[in-house]
Amino acid sequence: MGERIGVFGGTFDPPHVGHLVVAVNARHALHLDRVLLVVAHDPWQKSQTRALSSAEDRYAMVQAAVAGVDGLEASRIELDRGGVSYTADTLAALRDEDSSRALFLIVGSDAASGLPTWERGDEVLKLATVVVVNRPGAEEGKPPKGWSWEGLVTPRLEVSSTDLRARFADGRPLDYLLTTAVIECIRARGLYRSAADD
Ligand code: ATP
Ligand code: MG
Repeated sequence: MGERIGVFGGTFDPPHVGHLVVAVNARHALHLDRVLLVVAHDPWQKSQTRALSSAEDRYAMVQAAVAGVDGLEASRIELDRGGVSYTADTLAALRDEDSSRALFLIVGSDAASGLPTWERGDEVLKLATVVVVNRPGAEEGKPPKGWSWEGLVTPRLEVSSTDLRARFADGRPLDYLLTTAVIECIRARGLYRSAADD
């Protein structure tokens, strides 16, 4: 039997406890050998609407977040490929490394209904089992008819990177929403500073 791998993609700007709780619980519930937190190089559906932290900064934060956690890995596969990030390409590359692998694509319920807008969604469906995790504020979100998927319930944490960036900018507490290693990484790299800090 091949390896069972969870593929959890994101912008991770920054990675927070919501991501980590999803990743460890998906690993446990689905008996995955590893969960890859795949940092998007250029998340094309987002990069057109706001300025993002650099891919290397986001990768460093994800590395800090998973350091020392069994079975969770930061993946730079999309950074190394470069260009616009398509999940279909990432899944195909992971399959090509070892065709005996079983791939599980983990997405939050807020992202699930958008799956058909992803590039080559039909390939995504063929390459991986889609696993939809409940997310507060988007509990009803699911892929449209015709998509096969399974649901996974994890502890509900109403945390988002959008809210965390706003917290950084106006100085509200971050503690317990991000790991201390991620907070240190953000400070060391000078990320999310508002113009008022200069
Ligand atoms: P942003 O607010 O910038 O969109 P985000 O918090 O949604 O950031 P992303 O990097 O966009 O984080 O999310 C990556 C994946 O993690 C997506 O599949 C998303 O649905 C899922 N996710 C993010 N936060 C949570 C959470 N609190 N609970 C469950 N799933 C989550
Ligand atoms: Mg998001």
